[in-house]
Amino acid sequence: MGTLLRIKNLKTHFFSAGRVIRALDGVSFQIEEGEVFGLVGETGCGKSVTALSILRLIPFPPGKIIGGEIHFKGKDLLHLDEDEMRSIRGKEISMIFQEPMTSLNPVFRIGDQMVEVIVLHQRLDRSRASRKVLEMLQRVHIPDADRVMNQYPHQLSGGMRQRVMIAMELSCHPLLLIADEPTTALDVTIQAQILRIIKEMKNELQTSILLITHDLGVIAEMCDRVAVMYAGSIVEEAGVEEIFESPGHPYTQGLWGAIPRVDQERETLSVIPGMVPDLSQLPPGCKFHPRCPYRFAPCDQSTPPLFQISPGHLASCYLYSKGETDG
Ligand code: SF4
Repeated sequence: MGTLLRIKNLKTHFFSAGRVIRALDGVSFQIEEGEVFGLVGETGCGKSVTALSILRLIPFPPGKIIGGEIHFKGKDLLHLDEDEMRSIRGKEISMIFQEPMTSLNPVFRIGDQMVEVIVLHQRLDRSRASRKVLEMLQRVHIPDADRVMNQYPHQLSGGMRQRVMIAMELSCHPLLLIADEPTTALDVTIQAQILRIIKEMKNELQTSILLITHDLGVIAEMCDRVAVMYAGSIVEEAGVEEIFESPGHPYTQGLWGAIPRVDQERETLSVIPGMVPDLSQLPPGCKFHPRCPYRFAPCDQSTPPLFQISPGHLASCYLYSKGETDG
């Protein structure tokens, strides 16, 4: 298995009313072939901007990718022209959103929309594309798929629409699926079904997944490795078991302490003091230092690099500065 996606020092900023909002401030990570990589953090930390930057869908103005590299199968996506990018979107990299209606067209039948995607990307004739649509809808366990093909999006429930989206986005067998909060709008039972379908499809099609969520339960259930984002940067990265058992960064420890766990008895849940910083006025040094109970001399002076806590476990925190830095 090789590396499918490698992001290096990615910076995406938004320029508004004389302010520069540093939504991504030097993000680096990589996703291996066949891996499920989780990106977790609070709302506004830069998770979705990361996804849109990978697909080069940042609206300009006000947003712009101002630096970094996004290597996908060895090609830097930031150096491709728009035609080349269009042939990658939907075919090699697909994305599903929290609200499927952002991608489904309300005035076309489900079958017609899916056929268009397959004809465009796979160059099949319409009758073969139509058979493929039926097969994909059946694979995501849509009962009565024939009937659903003739329905409009508003006639389906939220869970059914999300299944349709998964079927549509995976119909071209992408190498990478970006799933941005795919189950947040669904109730718990449907959420579990959708996660199971994503997992099944990933195993059948060998698709890598970038799973974006603020839900730690979803991360624990689905991911191989996890990165934690805070204020536009990755502050910790590790294998999923390691990061839940031994979170290293004080922010990750705060996040973990704020969720109830059935395997641990706790009198109270902890709270991270203070507020997430304004991305146009980030504090100097470690961005978490105004809220960190462990801050010490270097923390407000310079940004901590990623230090290695153990093999494959990195944290951007001076508490680990005796370890090795990551490249
Ligand atoms: Fe806290 Fe300093 Fe580590 Fe930042 S670098 S998380 S302020 S100890």
